Amino acid sequence: MSFTIDFTVFHEVLSTNPNIIITTHHNPDGDAIGSSLALYHVLKGAGYQVSVIIPNRFPDFLNWMSESEKMLIFEDDKNSNVKQLIEAADLIFCLDYNALNRIDKMEEPVRFAKGFKVLIDHHPNPKENEFQLIFSTTSASSTAELVYRFAEQIGLKHLINKDAAECLYTGIITDTGSFSYACNAATTYQIMVELIEKGIDAENLHRLIYDNFSESRLRLLGHALSRNMLLIPEYHTAIIALSKQDLTDFKYKTGDSEGIVNYPLTIKEINMAILLTERENLIRISFRSKGKFAVNQIASKYFEGGGHLNAAGANSYLSMEETINKIKTILAEFNDQLDYVITK
Ligand code: MN
Repeated sequence: MSFTIDFTVFHEVLSTNPNIIITTHHNPDGDAIGSSLALYHVLKGAGYQVSVIIPNRFPDFLNWMSESEKMLIFEDDKNSNVKQLIEAADLIFCLDYNALNRIDKMEEPVRFAKGFKVLIDHHPNPKENEFQLIFSTTSASSTAELVYRFAEQIGLKHLINKDAAECLYTGIITDTGSFSYACNAATTYQIMVELIEKGIDAENLHRLIYDNFSESRLRLLGHALSRNMLLIPEYHTAIIALSKQDLTDFKYKTGDSEGIVNYPLTIKEINMAILLTERENLIRISFRSKGKFAVNQIASKYFEGGGHLNAAGANSYLSMEETINKIKTILAEFNDQLDYVITK
């Protein structure tokens, strides 16, 4: 790891037999859930009192993970029991997000909680004043990878059991698109070797994660690609728009649009793909790029979103049509940056 961190205060907190909570971002993905549950297994193995609290529900394709059913869902917390748990926590892990505004309605309780906050994350520009310990680098493939390294740093690596290893595998495999991006560092593969040595069945896990579609989910993908994909060749960009009606027609469930945004990038000349999904009062935007184009700059500059160089997200409060028009206007500005050719 290319940065040094002072763990002194962290170890002091850990030595007081703290109540620990692990939190992750809104609309949690494979890395969010995988890294959170892996850390949960490690800390539980060390004998700590620990709970995972997530802002809203997680996609069904992750429900095979050991003890995933014990995760507490803040959005469903009718009696404020979860809120009280946040207030009472001595140690709060913040996984796979770089700022407290990424945890939706949990933001306020976590912000004002007394617990010592530890950030473990791989997004750029963490809000440094929101956490007491920051274990963050954009050079990591995933937060799962950083949880592995964190466990190593604090001397608990030996507690990564098979359950934890399966969760870490999931985080790494989903955040690298099965080793197709963010996967040029040897460390990631070295960690994978160790996870295999813990006895995980990588082939079977990959099937659990990826060969788990409902019929309607696959048909939604087909519909998105054949009917709703707009190519703008002069800007090397593809836009897919999914309306509320599309989602209803294809019996949309959380997570069903996951991955759709990546498909247009398989077209040779397309360097950026944008998925627009119509939600209750907003349009959710996902950006992906291949090569050097930084989609997080568009997400943050024009839509107050953010993310990674090749994967970012944001919200638009305009209509679908207005959002598409705004994107077209923005593309003209980045034209010379999108006009590249992937070569060896
Ligand atoms: Mn991640």
